Amino acid sequence: MPISVPSPTLILRSLGWLSALALTSSAVAQEYLTGIEWEKPAVVAPGKTNSDPPSDAVVLFNGSDLSQWRGGENWSVQEGAMVTGKGMLTTKAEFGDCQLHIEWSAPVPAQGSGQGRGNSGVFLMGRYELQVLDSYENDTYADGQAGAIYKQTPPAVNVTRPPGEWNTYDVFWTAPRFDEEGQLVSPAYITVMHNGVLILNHFELLGDTPFHRPPQYAAHPPTGPISLQDHGNPVRFRNIWVREFKPAKGEQKRPPFLRRGDQEIPLSQP
Ligand code: MG
Repeated sequence: MPISVPSPTLILRSLGWLSALALTSSAVAQEYLTGIEWEKPAVVAPGKTNSDPPSDAVVLFNGSDLSQWRGGENWSVQEGAMVTGKGMLTTKAEFGDCQLHIEWSAPVPAQGSGQGRGNSGVFLMGRYELQVLDSYENDTYADGQAGAIYKQTPPAVNVTRPPGEWNTYDVFWTAPRFDEEGQLVSPAYITVMHNGVLILNHFELLGDTPFHRPPQYAAHPPTGPISLQDHGNPVRFRNIWVREFKPAKGEQKRPPFLRRGDQEIPLSQP
């Protein structure tokens, strides 16, 4: 069977086009430059697993004592977990924007129903409650179940493990900002992973989270403690750590521009 072979002239011509193309594209290779001079991000050693504290975390409870907390005299530590006692447990340290990891487990056997079963709560800045509740086969109002911002929004899904098993919350918190007159400048935002599942995605809080009145903002300092609720149920907590979050820092040294070889081309201003 005859094989058709392209003529040498055709091959050479094609090669010529290709190299001409390559030359043209390298000659006009264009790069976008932001004009921002970034600080080098700090190096952080990650935890052994993603549940373990990274090197820049503040460990609030590692299974042994309650020295990082106020109110610890009324709670107890049993088998590496802290058990809800009388009154709020509140960190001595205060945090603004942060990443919080906390694990909790509802009492066994399950007792009570609705809001009366395995109820506690993680209060960001001492006043914004991310609900802790035994929501495993336990019906209650949706914006009061585990993973809810209490009375503001339910979690997107219910991924609560059965009582006795450990649940994990990974919380990404943006503190609200107030001006000098105490007016709200920007609200609080929260993102939460429950057992690795996204349940709240950049939810904008309407204010605090009381039972008896609508949410409202009242000016407070830029940092606040993390509190854990006593709702009369012996909920257990373990492996609690927090990282203050500061975004990368950079300075706009010049307006953004394009670079083509030695040529710098300003971007047209809008
Ligand atoms: Mg609660």
